[in-house]
Amino acid sequence: MADIASRLDSVRKSIERLAELAAPAQAEEARRLADTLEAQLDNLVREVAAHPADQALNDLPRSPRHEEIRCPVCSLRSFTYQKGTLRRSADSRSGLEALYHCLSCGHEAWHEAQ
Ligand SMILES: [Zn+2]
Repeated sequence: MADIASRLDSVRKSIERLAELAAPAQAEEARRLADTLEAQLDNLVREVAAHPADQALNDLPRSPRHEEIRCPVCSLRSFTYQKGTLRRSADSRSGLEALYHCLSCGHEAWHEAQ
């Protein structure tokens, strides 16, 4: 965020400088435009601060609804969710997948989680 703040400062300074460069006839309009741009920047900063990029990660459930599912290899209901492996997946219908390990045959694979 500190990096973004310093880059924003640089953009603000450029907007100020641009407003100063305007010919006297356009000075007032340039000033208004500069104020508008700076206000838009401030709004953007507030929106970004309110919605951090990692928010989506916080929305993940802690564990899948079914921690033991049918193993695709031995078909026993011992395909067990491995703690902490739940993640988003664009490929699965539920949008989630997790690593499962079969306690019976040892098969291990990423599988759709619900
Ligand atoms: Zn198995």
